[in-house]
Amino acid sequence: MIAPELLPTPAQQQVGDFYTIATLGSHSALQILKGARDEGFKTLAIASYETERLYRSFNFVDEVITISRYQDFMSLVPELEERKVIIVPHGSFVAYLSLEEHKRMNVPYFGNKAVLDWEASREMQRVWLTKAGLKVPRQFRSGSEIDRPVIVKLYGAQGGKGYMFVRDAADFERRAGELTRQNYVLQEYIIGVPFYIHYFYSPLTGKLEIMSMDRRYETNVDSLGRIPAAAQEGMDVSPSYVVVGNSPLSLRESMLAEAYRMGEDVVRVSQEICPPKGLFGAFCIETIITPDAQFYIMEISARIVAGTNLFIDGSPYSYLNYSEPMSTGRRIAREIKNALLSNSLHAVLDDGGSAG
Ligand code: ATP
Repeated sequence: MIAPELLPTPAQQQVGDFYTIATLGSHSALQILKGARDEGFKTLAIASYETERLYRSFNFVDEVITISRYQDFMSLVPELEERKVIIVPHGSFVAYLSLEEHKRMNVPYFGNKAVLDWEASREMQRVWLTKAGLKVPRQFRSGSEIDRPVIVKLYGAQGGKGYMFVRDAADFERRAGELTRQNYVLQEYIIGVPFYIHYFYSPLTGKLEIMSMDRRYETNVDSLGRIPAAAQEGMDVSPSYVVVGNSPLSLRESMLAEAYRMGEDVVRVSQEICPPKGLFGAFCIETIITPDAQFYIMEISARIVAGTNLFIDGSPYSYLNYSEPMSTGRRIAREIKNALLSNSLHAVLDDGGSAG
């Protein structure tokens, strides 16, 4: 049975009519805006000259504002502040706006901006994850410490671009020249299945939901297995980790309780490090599962991730909770609507203190 507080009522449908949900036209904007419309909100896409026709072509997008570059988003802020607009951020916000710009913008914003500092720094993320009792891959301070295969992760890389697999200390020594003037970390290479778990934590009900899961399809690491190891010898092919797509997954049910616990622990610790609200709304824990069924955590994303685009019509897990199509984008809109109805908008927004 669906929890009564999660069901939309006719009153909720009306409440949504007064507000516009807005986001940048990229990443998971279609899912966010479709979800907002399904929950009764007006919708606004902030697009570029290249993308505006695409966003106008969808009938659930009520309005499109065009800017020349997404980096110019801040120039719209005064106009958005005048309107009843709620911003739902996604990965492109972090890519195009600096942390300072995020904090300067006073448009009501779904999420807790205090978490951004913890997410943006690899070191702080490790502290957060470790405090939550999650396993993280070992890190090495220098090439000479390397005693097992490692992945060299460049700072600021997106989608694994430029990452390097290194077999041992001697291999690192040989290839270190490729890394001059770049910041990177040397991380233990975990051999297993990359598994991305999408969660939603409701500050209104205090409940965590598993929304969906995906794996990324990365070139060329995911295709190396198609060439026998013996044939690869002498070919001089190195694995690369450039994401080209995502595919849906379900987790062995015997491992679900652990996945759920990890989400709960991450939320609990976030409330200690970013009190009082902590992390809420959509987030993703990026894991690698080893043959002994251990989850190693590569990273945490504190907002909706692009892998949820596979589930615009809902996932097997969201169906269990809702029995209706419930994407992560729609779940966000529903949370905002439930907050409006219960006069608790402040609980789901970061607005520099002005949300009522
Ligand atoms: P995004 O910001 O888009 O999530 P990113 O650039 O931060 O990507 P990661 O998600 O950290 O990159 O990693 C990209 C890929 O590299 C992973 O999907 C995985 O295949 C591989 N990878 C990362 N860390 C490890 C590790 N410790 N062991 C094995 N593989 C790893």
